[in-house]
Amino acid sequence: MALIVQKFGGTSVADIDKIKNVAEKVIKVKKAGNQVVVVLSAMAGETDRLINLAHNAADSPDEREYDSLISTGEQVTVTLLSIVLNSMGYHARSFLGFQVKILTDMAYKKARISLIDTGAIRKELKKGTIIVVAGFQGVDKDNNITTLGRGGSDTSAVALAAALKADQCDIYTDVDGVYTTDPNVCAKARRLDKISYDEMLEMAMTGAKVLQPRSVEMAKKYNVPLYVKSTFSDKGGTLVTREDKDMEREIISGVTYDRDQVKITVVHVPDKPGVAADLFTPLSNKNIFVDMIIQNASLEGFTDLTFTVSKKDLKDAQKIIENTAKKVGANKVEVDDQVAKISIIGVGMASHSGVAARMFKTLAREGVNIMMISTSEIKISCIIQRKYMELAVSVLHDAFELEKKKVK
Ligand code: ADP
Ligand code: ASP
Ligand code: MG
Repeated sequence: MALIVQKFGGTSVADIDKIKNVAEKVIKVKKAGNQVVVVLSAMAGETDRLINLAHNAADSPDEREYDSLISTGEQVTVTLLSIVLNSMGYHARSFLGFQVKILTDMAYKKARISLIDTGAIRKELKKGTIIVVAGFQGVDKDNNITTLGRGGSDTSAVALAAALKADQCDIYTDVDGVYTTDPNVCAKARRLDKISYDEMLEMAMTGAKVLQPRSVEMAKKYNVPLYVKSTFSDKGGTLVTREDKDMEREIISGVTYDRDQVKITVVHVPDKPGVAADLFTPLSNKNIFVDMIIQNASLEGFTDLTFTVSKKDLKDAQKIIENTAKKVGANKVEVDDQVAKISIIGVGMASHSGVAARMFKTLAREGVNIMMISTSEIKISCIIQRKYMELAVSVLHDAFELEKKKVK
C-alpha cells in the first residue's frame, strides 16, 4: 500500500463544485488501494482578501494576529472537503496545522517548518481515514499560529510527504505541469516531462510561481518524488527529480519573470569603505531581502547605488533607506516600481559561452533596455521596464528555441 500526498491549490478548490471534483480525485487514489493525505490551499483569492482586510484594519497589523487571520482560508476548504468526502461515504478528517502539529519557528509571515509530529496522522491512516491537512500554516513553540509565506501550501505538502516518508507528492494546479515558461503568458511554452530539482528551484526563485521555492528545496533535501499535475485533466504532468541522463540536454530550459520587483536608487553616495554596509545593514536587520545590487562607476568620489526589493517590502525599505541615505550623505532616493525581472535558467549554461550575449542581443533587437544584470552558474537575470515583460519572455523563448524538444 502506497502513501500518497495530494496538494490542491486555490483555483482547484475555488467553489463547492470544484471541491467535489477534488473529492472525486482523492477517492480515485484511495480506491486504488493507497493511503491518502490531502493538503489544501484557501479558495482562490481568499488569502488576498484576508490580507486586504488586515491592511484596511491597520497600517501595520500586529503580526501574530495577521498570521492567525490569513491562515483561516485553509480552515474553510479542509473542513468543506472533509464534509463532502464523509457525505460520499469515505471517512475523512480535517487537521489544522496545530492539530497535526506542524511546528515552525517564530517568524510570522515566513515561518519555517522545524518538525512535524506524524503520530496523529499515522493513527488515523491506520484506520483507513483520508487525512485533509490545511496548507500554509503551522504553530510555533508557544502555540501561536504562523504562516509559511505566499504559496506556502506547496511546502506544507512536501514537508508532510518527507515526514511521512510518502511514496510521492502530487501538486495539483490549474496547469498540467511545469512549462518552459508561464503558459499563461507565452502561447509557445512547452511542457517538460521532467525537470531537475536545481533548475526547478532556480525557476521558482526567479518567479515561476507554480511551486514555492522552499517546497523544491525540501523535496531535493529529502528526495521526495514531486509531480506537478492538472486538477482539471488527467493528461500531462511533470516530474521534478534528481538530474539524470534521461533529462533533456539543453543550454536553457526555461524563461521566468517576476513582476514583484521594485528598483531603488540611492543617488550621489560618497564612494568610500563602509557605505554599502551602512546602507544595507539596517535593511537586513528588518529582514528585508535585497535581490539585485549594482554600483555605478565612481565620479569625483561619488557613486549611485541601485538595488531591488520585493514590492511588499517597499514601504519599509524606503523609510529605512531614506533615513540611512541622509546619514551617509547621499543626495536623494529614487524609486521605480514599473520594472520586472526576467531570467533565463539552465544547467547547461555553465559549460556554454555566448548565452548572455544572445540574451542581451535579443532584448536589444526589440529595443528593450537592460537596467540591471545578475548571473549565477545556471541563471541570468535582467531588470527591464515592466511594459516590455511579456514581449521579453516571448522573444527569449524564441531565441533559445524552447518550443522545440531537445535531443537527449
Ligand atoms: P495554485 O493556486 O494551484 O498553487 P499557482 O497560481 O500558485 O497555483 O501556480 C500555478 C500558476 O503558475 C499557473 O497558472 C501559471 O500561470 C504559473 N506559472 C508560472 N510559470 C510557470 C511555468 N514555468 N510552468 C507552469 N506554470 C507556471
Ligand atoms: N493560500 C495561501 C496563499 O494564497 C497558500 C497557498 O495558496 O499555497 O498564498
Ligand atoms: Mg501556488
